Amino acid sequence: MTQTMASSSTQEVAAELLRRPAFVMVSHVKPDGDTLGAGLALGIALKRLGKRVHYFQQDPVPRNLRFLPDTEFVTRDIPGDLPPDTLYVFCDMSDFSRAGEFLPKVERENMLDIDHHLGNSHFGKFNFVLDTECSTGTVVMHLFRELKIEIDRDLATCILTTIMTDTGGFMHSNTTPAVLELSAELMRIGADKEQITEEIFANRRVAATRLLGSVIDAMVFGHEGRYCYSYVDDPMLARTDADGEDTEDVVNTLRGQEGVEVAALFKAIEGEIRVSLRSNGRVNVQAAAATLGGGGHFRASGLTFHGTLADAFVAVDAALTAQGL
Ligand code: 5GP
Ligand code: MN
Repeated sequence: MTQTMASSSTQEVAAELLRRPAFVMVSHVKPDGDTLGAGLALGIALKRLGKRVHYFQQDPVPRNLRFLPDTEFVTRDIPGDLPPDTLYVFCDMSDFSRAGEFLPKVERENMLDIDHHLGNSHFGKFNFVLDTECSTGTVVMHLFRELKIEIDRDLATCILTTIMTDTGGFMHSNTTPAVLELSAELMRIGADKEQITEEIFANRRVAATRLLGSVIDAMVFGHEGRYCYSYVDDPMLARTDADGEDTEDVVNTLRGQEGVEVAALFKAIEGEIRVSLRSNGRVNVQAAAATLGGGGHFRASGLTFHGTLADAFVAVDAALTAQGL
C-alpha cells in the first residue's frame, strides 16, 4: 500500500509547473469535456510559458469535443525523447488507473493529480484536489490566477466546456453563483456558449436517439419507484447503429423520470460492464460505487463490474440499498 500524499497548495503546484521543462497532460478513458477541456487549457497555457507539452489519452477524442483547440495533438503515444523530469498531469480522475492501461509506468515523483472528485486517492507527488469546485477546469483556474495567465478565447472555451459538461449545462446543484459569474466572464472573453451547447447537448445523433428508445423500452423500476435502471448491450448497439459514445447521457433520462431518486445504466459492451449511477441528492452514489471499486461524486458516479449482467443488477441494487435507497 503506497502512502497517501498530502494536498499541495496552489503556490506549490504553480512553482512546480514553472520548474518543469516538459509535460504530458493525461485524460481519462471514455473522456468527457472536463478531463479533456481541463488538460487542453493547462497544456495551451504551459506552451505559452515556453514549455514542451504532449497530450495523452487512450481513447480517441469524442466527436462532440473535436471543436476544442489542440485536440489534433491528442494521441495515445508518448514520445521517446521526453526529459526524465517530465511532469505527467492527470486531470479529473480519482485514481491514475482511470488513464487506462496504455499509459506507460510513471514514477510518482513525476505525477501531478488535478481533480475535484470526492475520495480522490492522492496518487501523485503533487495533489491539487478541490472537491468543492464544479469541474476540474475550475480547479485549473486557481493555477491560472496564481501564474497570472491571461485568459484568451481558447482558454475560455476550454474552461467553459468543463463547466457546462460537469454542471449538465448549468442544471446540476454544483451551479453556484460563483460558477455563473465565472461563466459570464468566460463568455465575455469569447467562449462561445452557443457552440458548446450545440456540440455537447443539442446535436444528438439519430442513432443515439434510437438507442435511447431501446434503453427506455428496457427500463425497470424498483424500490417503490425510487430506483430506475436499464442496460445497453452489443446487440442493442448493432440494432440501432449506435456506438459506446452514444450512451453517454442516457442515464440522465432514467434519473429524470418522475419519482426516481437513483438511476443506473449498465453498459455491457465488448466484454466489459460499465455502470453509470445518478442520484437526485438524497442517496450518495459515490459511496455506493466505491464499495464496488468505482467512484465519482455524490450525485454522479461509475464503476466497472466483473461478472455477468444479472450479477451486476443484484450487486448494484445491494450497494444502493446499503446507502439508504
Ligand atoms: P459516468 O457515469 O459519466 O461514466 O461517470 C460519472 C462520474 O463517476 C464521473 O465523475 C466519473 O469520473 C466517475 N467515474 C466513473 N467511472 C468511474 C470508475 O470506474 N472509478 C472512479 N473512481 N470514478 C468513476
Ligand atoms: Mn469532472
